[in-house]
Amino acid sequence: MQPNDNLLFMIDVKEVKPEITQVNTNVFDSIADSRHEQIVFCNDPATGLRAIIAIHSTVLGPALGGTRMWSYKSEAEAVNDVLRLSRGMTYKAAISGLNLGGGKAVIIGDSRKDKSEALFRKFGRFVNNLNGKYITAEDVGTSTKDMEYVAMETKHVTGLPEAMGGGGDPSPVTAYGVYMGMKASAQFAWGNDNLSGKRVVVQGVGHVGENLVKNLRKENAKVYITDINEEQLKKVSVEYGAEVISPDAVYDMDMDIYAPCALGATLNTENINKLKCQVIAGAANNQLADETVHGPMLMEKGIIYAPDFLINAGGLINVYSELISYNRQRAMTQTEHIYAVTLEILKKARVEGIYTQYAAIKMAEKRIADISHVKSNM
Ligand code: NAD
Repeated sequence: MQPNDNLLFMIDVKEVKPEITQVNTNVFDSIADSRHEQIVFCNDPATGLRAIIAIHSTVLGPALGGTRMWSYKSEAEAVNDVLRLSRGMTYKAAISGLNLGGGKAVIIGDSRKDKSEALFRKFGRFVNNLNGKYITAEDVGTSTKDMEYVAMETKHVTGLPEAMGGGGDPSPVTAYGVYMGMKASAQFAWGNDNLSGKRVVVQGVGHVGENLVKNLRKENAKVYITDINEEQLKKVSVEYGAEVISPDAVYDMDMDIYAPCALGATLNTENINKLKCQVIAGAANNQLADETVHGPMLMEKGIIYAPDFLINAGGLINVYSELISYNRQRAMTQTEHIYAVTLEILKKARVEGIYTQYAAIKMAEKRIADISHVKSNM
């Protein structure tokens, strides 16, 4: 570590307790409850960098997860976010069969005003100090350009532009995985995975949503789209022949499939009570506002929920390919496997009488436990 790297504290917390389900304003309680291996607070007054790197698990491999830049209302909110997101990355990698652990970083700041080359290079130094235990990438509020600065200080960064040997935009791969998960859910719900004529509502037609619409329209699904970005909405509607609906209309629509591809936590008590669909399969992270409440609630309503961290793993699979030697075709082929895993989880949930997100978590945790046993035996 450089002498001027003001690393406030590094905490090793291996004692296990159940996961966090809500924002805890007591930072130390959050950390103690979160089952993380290590949490690093990075502070550099000269560049204005205030960041937190959370390493949830490195049992399967280095902890990989993007760096989010966000104007958090409080430091406690930033801590809670990074703990929750890094845990999600552990499960996503585990269930996708990748040899990666789970981690995530957050930079506290306004991504429109507070970015600088120095800030990202300093952040890169902190990442480098972890010697590959954590590998970063872009996320909400950061771009491939920012990662280029990070890459000047560390080799432990992915999600670089194609010109730098990276995989470029992972969204088409993510969308393909969501499409695979949706088809598997259709197979489970209707005994047939053909989506032709199925009424699908895609909420959010950004990078992933647009590519999902493209796949769905190729198969002749009846696609309804909504977004708060009018220009993008119009473009996608014209290009793929999708019908526009207003953002407020989503939960009152008669539809077969709901695909949340905008924000997380749209599956709350109020919306679930209104929803008229048989399948939910979308790209957004953390779709269930409270997984222990809303997972069972969907099950009771007979709605098939394709676990978010499983079916949106295409982007991570793409980035993983970058670590080995980037090959988009290989990433797409590996992403296709999401179909089989989704089907397996939906069946497991039904047989065991548990909600699907929990079935997916159990499967991910089993792989981590099995591999940790393999590693500790030598
Ligand atoms: P994006 O920002 O490109 O697209 C999101 C879209 O949602 C935007 O067009 C935005 O205008 C729209 N939106 C925001 N609020 C909305 C609302 N209330 N109603 C309707 N539309 C709204 O993001 P993205 O890269 O397409 O990612 C979409 C989701 O998938 C995010 O939750 C992201 O975390 C998740 N995800 C993305 C990837 C990836 O590879 N990009 C991978 C895994 C998960």
